[in-house]
Amino acid sequence: EQAAGARDIAAADLVVTHVEQRKSPPPASALVFGHTFADHMLAIEWTSAEGWQAPQIKPYGPLVLDPSSVIFHYAPSLFEGMKAYKDVEGKVRLFRPDMNMKRMNTSAERIALPTFSGKELIKLIAKLVELDAAWIPSEPGHSLYIRPALIGTQAALGVHPTTDALLFVISSPVGPYYKTGFKPVALEADPARVRAWPGGTGNFKLGSNYAPGIRPQMEAAKRGYQQNLWLFGDEHWLTEVGTMNLFVVLKKGEGIEIVTPPLDGMILPGVTRDSILALARDHAAGSIALEGVPQQVTVSERGINMGEIQQAEKDGSLCEIFGAGTAAVVSPVDRIGYMGKDIHIPVGEGGVGAVAKAMLQRIQDIQLGRVEHPWSVLV
Ligand code: PMP
Repeated sequence: EQAAGARDIAAADLVVTHVEQRKSPPPASALVFGHTFADHMLAIEWTSAEGWQAPQIKPYGPLVLDPSSVIFHYAPSLFEGMKAYKDVEGKVRLFRPDMNMKRMNTSAERIALPTFSGKELIKLIAKLVELDAAWIPSEPGHSLYIRPALIGTQAALGVHPTTDALLFVISSPVGPYYKTGFKPVALEADPARVRAWPGGTGNFKLGSNYAPGIRPQMEAAKRGYQQNLWLFGDEHWLTEVGTMNLFVVLKKGEGIEIVTPPLDGMILPGVTRDSILALARDHAAGSIALEGVPQQVTVSERGINMGEIQQAEKDGSLCEIFGAGTAAVVSPVDRIGYMGKDIHIPVGEGGVGAVAKAMLQRIQDIQLGRVEHPWSVLV
């Protein structure tokens, strides 16, 4: 925790050093996710004695850290993922950046890294994005992916709260997730692989949560499944899909039930998850109308296990399963490998179910300012 009286991040203290020569962004068609970075980065140092130092925007480039730096040994590291969009009028917009700031601070607190004013960091991210606005592709479905990160940097071995930290923000132009229409994914649900557990750190966006998921994904891929469906416990509760939150749509009476696991400490509180829940509730209340979605919708944050999925497949009430996250917004699932058998999930003709499709449409409309909404913040 930040010491009393220690300096918070102050956007007004920003020092900007421009690159000598701007690079030209690659053509939108040649973009590979996360491989190209915009000209500038934001960096803010912190020390336990003085708090946050003056923020700096400077040319994108390597960090210089001691090999003894705690980040390399004990993984005090967290990150966020958010996007900037060019709207129909060429104006730059962020989507619910306050949610990312809140989650970033929650993550920081969990691993004894310093917290900060999310409002001030949003102002600085806005400055960075403005400066590198040429890097936001304006082609439909494109955006600038923004990666804030916070690491402990003290050059001293020993597991203890770090006395030094570095917050930095880099950005990367990205193309649309679905270039040629929806591609439903197949998931492997192996109860022997566990992503998160009660009292663990699955509900925080820590670097240390992600490396252990790579091997299970490689193994699932060998068997023809793109992602892991992470289960928990003897009853095989569904938790998340790869690095996305999970939604299940079931027939219920004349309408449907939209189910997502509750935020019980094992689920990352996704911005997309929260947005889908809010839109589903607005639709159910009649204040918005999502195209193709039945009016009668029950929205449930509740546990759902593999037994219920198998039963729903059998009795024909399983309508849709999809992942939800910033990268793709929604990612339809058409198959789950479980206990040596495949469960098949309908995806409809376009490779996507009605709920996932309507949610994608609505969220993109808001992100691009086609529908005015307080979630979309002009830079
Ligand atoms: N779960 C995990 C484990 C993730 O890494 C992400 C991506 N941040 C999500 C869910 C989706 O979160 P969001 O909608 O905020 O991108």
